[in-house]
Amino acid sequence: MRKKLVVGNWKMNMTRPEAAACVEGLVRLVGREDVAVAICPPYLALDCVQYLLRNTSIALGAQDVFWKESGAFTGQVSANMLADVGCSYCIVGHSETRGRFGKLEVAESTLGYFSETDETVNLKIKALLYCSISPILCVGETLAEREAGQTDEVIASQLKGALDGIDGSEFREGVVAYEPVWAIGTGKTCDTAEAERVCGMIRSELSKIFDEDTANSIRIQYGGSVKASNAKELFSQPNIDGGLVGGASLNPNEFADIVKAAA
Ligand code: 13P
Repeated sequence: MRKKLVVGNWKMNMTRPEAAACVEGLVRLVGREDVAVAICPPYLALDCVQYLLRNTSIALGAQDVFWKESGAFTGQVSANMLADVGCSYCIVGHSETRGRFGKLEVAESTLGYFSETDETVNLKIKALLYCSISPILCVGETLAEREAGQTDEVIASQLKGALDGIDGSEFREGVVAYEPVWAIGTGKTCDTAEAERVCGMIRSELSKIFDEDTANSIRIQYGGSVKASNAKELFSQPNIDGGLVGGASLNPNEFADIVKAAA
């Protein structure tokens, strides 16, 4: 039985004092539910949030990683640095870090800013697994891809590329987040039946890449305008094992309600 997992992706929000206030609120509100919970603050707040989460059941995660161990990689953070600060999860391949077209003006309109490819996502996953950090692999289609009927094909290819050469036994604790790009930060949630259909399709692709038993152990989250008001319906679907929450995770009361919806 997969335990549901609700993760807050704070994106580029929260100074350390703001982060501390948010976490202190959250720790008072959640903890007793039978739900795994993690928060992914910006790099600079990881240390302070880790300190506040010690002795709680809430885990720490990062929003990105670089795949090399150390060296001349200006501006980057390695998986062993994330492990050192206490991260047990790390998001990879978020649509805001993927850059399918390489041009800033196109990136602005499709939300991808950092030229991430399936190949770099794959390298990052391998680096994280080496440091025993569970990757949260984001996949999802743009509106144009959905309208062209390419949703399943795009996602199957993202999964294949990201998980290439990875052994199923290493990815059992891994997570896949289905985040339709058009639903992120737009207030437009994917219809529940369609979110469940895509998450089921992801599970069947995972069983082709690994095997059925491994696919059944991997948690598949939905992300994209998850709120307290829609979380219960989404999380009650058989293939949706929780959520990756952006905007609504910045408010401790709302995030706590989303966690409770997963219980
Ligand atoms: P929103 O919840 O703000 O739509 O963001 C979703 C997301 O991108 C989480 O990674």
